[in-house]
Amino acid sequence: MTFESLGLHTSVIKALTEAGYTKPTAVQEQAVPAAIEGRDLMVSSQTGSGKTAAFMLPALHKFASEQQAAPAAGNKTPNQEMQASRARGERPRFKPAQPKMLVLTPTRELALQVTTATDKYGSHMKRVKAISILGGMPYPKQMQLLAKNPEILVATPGRLIDHMESGKIDFSQLQILVLDEADRMLDMGFIDDIEKIVDATPETRQTMLFSATLDGVVGNMAKRITKNPMIIQI
Ligand code: AMP
Repeated sequence: MTFESLGLHTSVIKALTEAGYTKPTAVQEQAVPAAIEGRDLMVSSQTGSGKTAAFMLPALHKFASEQQAAPAAGNKTPNQEMQASRARGERPRFKPAQPKMLVLTPTRELALQVTTATDKYGSHMKRVKAISILGGMPYPKQMQLLAKNPEILVATPGRLIDHMESGKIDFSQLQILVLDEADRMLDMGFIDDIEKIVDATPETRQTMLFSATLDGVVGNMAKRITKNPMIIQI
């Protein structure tokens, strides 16, 4: 099996070749084609299995394909947004970030790893901006990052809720929701935050949940938030 045979966009393949990846891991072989088709996923896999690429590669593939179809359709930067709103005769004002993808992680460390991996896998795309929203990071810094209107937000649940409630994030354009290490997020007591966040996202989203186990509470939550999911056990 090769990355080409999984159907990934050439810009993504180029980045993988540069990263020295020669073939997909077991979880990537199963998850990537299903996610490209738009299926929801419930995946039981461990850290080290290549799960980050399993959800990020199909997402980047989708965004690269959209950019190719409509080159100007990428998220606007604040300056472009301001010019456009002036051209419409409006008074410029702060616009909430409108991410296309949200990845929830239990810890700051994992969020930073996911963001770094995204930068690597997206390095040959025209524009794809990923930022981390983390507890403990100063608010002014986070406001600066949100003002870049990133396509991809990687966040720990508590801090994300703060920004949602203060109107800094608008999920109406969200296409893809990922819960990474969902069992750990539940162990850490994030269930109410997760439900609140999921409720703020469009019903039409694609949902991918990754967890060491899919039993019990995490399995029940996974079934509630996914639609006709493909279940993958590695
Ligand atoms: P993860 O399970 O996502 O934490 O990934 C574990 C490690 O495997 C990371 O250092 C990735 O960069 C690496 N990795 C992921 N997919 C592949 C692949 N197909 N070939 C080689 N290394 C990979």
